[in-house]
Amino acid sequence: MSTNTLPTQERTDDEPTWRGPFPEYDRFGEPTGCRFVECRGCGCEVIAGHEQDATHRDGCPL
Ligand SMILES: [Zn+2]
Repeated sequence: MSTNTLPTQERTDDEPTWRGPFPEYDRFGEPTGCRFVECRGCGCEVIAGHEQDATHRDGCPL
């Protein structure tokens, strides 16, 4: 009898979809206090925590 309550994982690869987070800098080179992450598949960037709102480029597998 399994005590594992986690749902079955579909992904076998353990690499995260997103690289980062990286600090965001404004045009003066000052940190804005925001952080962003970058998609491994297409390189699109989105504010950390808003990954679900990212617009992936055509052909991105992620
Ligand atoms: Zn992508």
